[in-house]
Amino acid sequence: MANKTISIIGGGMAGLCAGCYLLMNGYDVTIYEMNSTPGGVCTSWKRGDYTVDLCVQWLVGSGPASSFYERWNELIDIGNIRFVNHDEFFRVEDGKGNHISVFTNLDRLKAEFLEKAPEDEKEIRAFIRNAKKLLTFDMGTDEARETANIWSRLAAFWKMLPYLPTFGKYIKLTCLQYSEHFKNPLLKKVICNLPGPGMGIIFGMITLTWFHNKTAGYPIGGSLNFAKKICERYTELGGKIVFNARVEKVLVKDDAAIGIELESGQQYFADLVISAADGHTTIFDMLKGKYAGKKLLEFYETAKPFPSLVFVALGIKKDFTGLPHIIVLPLTEPLSLDPQTQLNDLVVHHHSYDQTLAPPGCTLLTLSLETYNYNYWNDLYIKNRELYKQQKQRIADTIIDILEKRFGNIKTNVEMTDISTPVSFQRFSGNWKGSYEGWLLTPETGLSHRSHTLEGLRNFYMCGQWTQVGGGLPGVLVSGRDTAQIICYNDGKKFVSTK
Ligand SMILES: Cc1cc2nc3c(=O)[nH]c(=O)nc-3n(C[C@H](O)[C@H](O)[C@H](O)COP(=O)(O)OP(=O)(O)OC[C@H]3O[C@@H](n4cnc5c(N)ncnc54)[C@H](O)[C@@H]3O)c2cc1C
Repeated sequence: MANKTISIIGGGMAGLCAGCYLLMNGYDVTIYEMNSTPGGVCTSWKRGDYTVDLCVQWLVGSGPASSFYERWNELIDIGNIRFVNHDEFFRVEDGKGNHISVFTNLDRLKAEFLEKAPEDEKEIRAFIRNAKKLLTFDMGTDEARETANIWSRLAAFWKMLPYLPTFGKYIKLTCLQYSEHFKNPLLKKVICNLPGPGMGIIFGMITLTWFHNKTAGYPIGGSLNFAKKICERYTELGGKIVFNARVEKVLVKDDAAIGIELESGQQYFADLVISAADGHTTIFDMLKGKYAGKKLLEFYETAKPFPSLVFVALGIKKDFTGLPHIIVLPLTEPLSLDPQTQLNDLVVHHHSYDQTLAPPGCTLLTLSLETYNYNYWNDLYIKNRELYKQQKQRIADTIIDILEKRFGNIKTNVEMTDISTPVSFQRFSGNWKGSYEGWLLTPETGLSHRSHTLEGLRNFYMCGQWTQVGGGLPGVLVSGRDTAQIICYNDGKKFVSTK
């Protein structure tokens, strides 16, 4: 019998990973990707002599201390990639010459916190003690929840038991709420940035353990380079990928998916369809909301996505080596990003640790400025393109001024300026309101997952960052792998993850 055919919508990391596992299990897979490059938001682009790198700052599973390492190894030779493990995750400055460094080693971090904020000794000790309890916590699972039997579920629960007290203590707190447990203003700001005010502090603690365990490194070469490795594996396994192919509809007959229709009107039929594209577009546009279901609708109405970004990239003829790669700078005057968004701090990221991104002696600087005001940027883009361009320029000029004051010798050395807005994010990735990473991990969502299937629709699956919370490359790898496992399970096949 011929292998089952599968059409995957979207050649981002989720689509590519799902494709690899399905090929290992004998399916005939074609990915339809609307852009001309693989990887989705895991991307980089050339601007003059610089490579602007958008995505991967840390890759969980870069080292063997996390089971995600094994997962990546199923797809590529992760041990052969050169990773940078930073000693300092980021530094928060107060503009008066003081700073707190967030070291990636927990003992060094404790010493730094105690030295800089002795008034918070009790809370600092409790925080580090509890973070250390999570050092052996592993989020990875080998089996999809949907296919796990009672014994596997019990084993997973048993594995989780030692960590429940720590989770119980912190899971309900956002970083902002937890920052209120501290007195020192700079330390409060540090906690708020672990990883963001609205996100669960537990996620910040887990992130610190990944760094401590040296399993969250940055892959030299950048994001697109990394995505291309997965794409190469996909094609080596026999997968087909059609670029510049925007899917408009999922074709459905008798409540079963039978293929996809491209924007050009071309139709392609398949036994199964997987959407690894934006969740909102898939459910409400490609399927016209017919299979949304009450629970899912409720989730889409209440859950909060990650914001979008005004992403500023600057190529500077200046060496930043020796400075921490991420600095949180306070602003003397708030920066108005758009009518709804004022920023009080700038997070400046220099990439001098990856010399492949800039010519010798020069540095790529990036700033991810968060905004939920997609509508403003979209309206401007549609109705007043000139003002849209002026706003981008205004933001770039303001930032260059701020950087000049902090670092010196910036203005005359800017060789490249490149600004993406929420519109660029939406147009490039299709992601809802230009969100940069899917659903936010909050105390309300916990580590929950959405289903990989839709109510009432057969032969159809979803994977990627919109089927989980917290986004991230390891998460989307697992979501693609889980989808492949579920498909094998439904077909009565034993799932394999090597070839
Ligand atoms: C600025 C930034 C920093 C990040 N930092 C990190 C980090 O340090 N570590 C980490 O692990 N993760 C990080 N992430 C998150 C991570 O990159 C994402 O969660 C992950 O890449 C999402 O993969 P995906 O395949 O689910 O979605 P996407 O990357 O959005 O892929 C979806 C794909 O579907 C395609 N598509 C959409 N609509 C259609 C259509 N109609 N027809 C055909 N194709 C379509 C898109 O073009 C895209 O290729 C970061 C993301 C961003 C943006």
